Amino acid sequence: MIRFFNTLSGTIEEFKPIKEGEVRLYTCGPTVYDYPHIGNYRAYIFEDLLKRFLLFYGFKVIHVMNITDVDDKTIRGANSLGISLNEYTKKYIEAFFEDIKTLRLLPADYYPRATEHIPDMVRMIKGLLEKGFAYIKDGSVYFSIAKFPAYGRLAKINVEELKAGARVEADEYEKESVHDFALWKKAKEGEPFWETELGAGRPGWHIECSAMSTRYLGPTFDIHCGGIDNIFPHHENEIAQSEAYYGQKFVNYWLHCHHLIVDGEKMSKSKGNFYTLRDLLTRNLDPIDIRYFLLSTHYRKMLNFTFEGLEQSKASRQRILDFVYELEHRKFSPGSDQEVEPLVQKAMADFKNSLADDLNISAALAALFELIREINLRLAKDSLKQDDARKVLEAVYQMDRVLAILPEKEEETLPPEILRKIELRQKARKEKNFALADAIRQELRQLGIILEDTKEGVRWKRIK
Ligand code: AMP
Ligand code: ZN
Repeated sequence: MIRFFNTLSGTIEEFKPIKEGEVRLYTCGPTVYDYPHIGNYRAYIFEDLLKRFLLFYGFKVIHVMNITDVDDKTIRGANSLGISLNEYTKKYIEAFFEDIKTLRLLPADYYPRATEHIPDMVRMIKGLLEKGFAYIKDGSVYFSIAKFPAYGRLAKINVEELKAGARVEADEYEKESVHDFALWKKAKEGEPFWETELGAGRPGWHIECSAMSTRYLGPTFDIHCGGIDNIFPHHENEIAQSEAYYGQKFVNYWLHCHHLIVDGEKMSKSKGNFYTLRDLLTRNLDPIDIRYFLLSTHYRKMLNFTFEGLEQSKASRQRILDFVYELEHRKFSPGSDQEVEPLVQKAMADFKNSLADDLNISAALAALFELIREINLRLAKDSLKQDDARKVLEAVYQMDRVLAILPEKEEETLPPEILRKIELRQKARKEKNFALADAIRQELRQLGIILEDTKEGVRWKRIK
């Protein structure tokens, strides 16, 4: 059983996807007005852990991450340089895709861009006007939060004292100023705009995510994530817009990660207390150590950024790397010892169950380190056997499907004529033509390729 803390209910709940075996996941993506800082990557790495765990658990995951390429900040940036919005955001979109590769974040299935989904937003805004949830004022369209009684449920705010009709245009604002918010902003001098049925203008930030998430995942989907700063107003507004428009529940589980902080304050562009991934890489830090640092604290805890913290993460990860190296390179005597298999099974079960418990990464890593400790005792005595070494290694690589912190193995591919020979041999074996199968095996051996038949199929190795 998987359990997650759902911000909506404020409790830990059993996770049940809408469709068995499949999870529909939306994660708020970057606003591409600058290089992301590593606080942003804390959020994306938490989401990557969640996704990798769901895949590891056996779910199919359909993941959408938007790119906010039009909002107050991107417009300000483009205008300050006197270039078009597209020219301005292109550089940061490219940087983002480079960074996520560097940090080994699994790619999403869709990366919709706001500027490419204006018609979806217009359709929703028109619907909200028709249904009476929105109104027009001075050419802009606003969502009337008084019309949506559930407003404030996610952020746990009381909107009773709300001043009727007070409005806010800005994309970001504090909880203290609960206001009707802009869905569509009338074109302003010097700002990009789209000619639409709503008149010339541009969308507000919140409607972008409502339109793009439901476009790809349907009106109701399983999980929506972000950092806690997204809870209000962004996610609160997404719920209001989507549920008012579709008349059904928007998202079943809301998962939010806590902030990466520096000296007690949220790492953010506006405070100037940030490092981009690029800043850190120029200091010769390994990006996967940074990944490990951001990954290894539970997502609902605040994480304090320090260089000592990064050093500690590097040392912990190194212990895992050294262990794997030892298992891969040492010569072991054949056979197995009956004590080891249960240790491996326990470690795997603890690892999986810990993550199933609201992504308890500390306990999951503890399971891995406990296995390392036990096996290191045997390595010190030189008592580990070959089959056990293989089993332990396989378990660690299984765990790494979730962690993604081991060195990536270069996938070597064989020339097509050799692959063809392997296929012919498989065919011969199937047809019980063992003489031919053996002859092909010998021929490949001469070419420096050894074949091993395993339960999972045929494996090959190069003779070194
Ligand atoms: P933005 O590009 O500002 O929309 O932020 C992208 C994502 O990063 C959102 O999910 C934010 O909640 C998250 N985020 C921003 N700053 C931090 C931080 N210091 N720690 C953790 N997550 C953050
Ligand atoms: Zn969003």
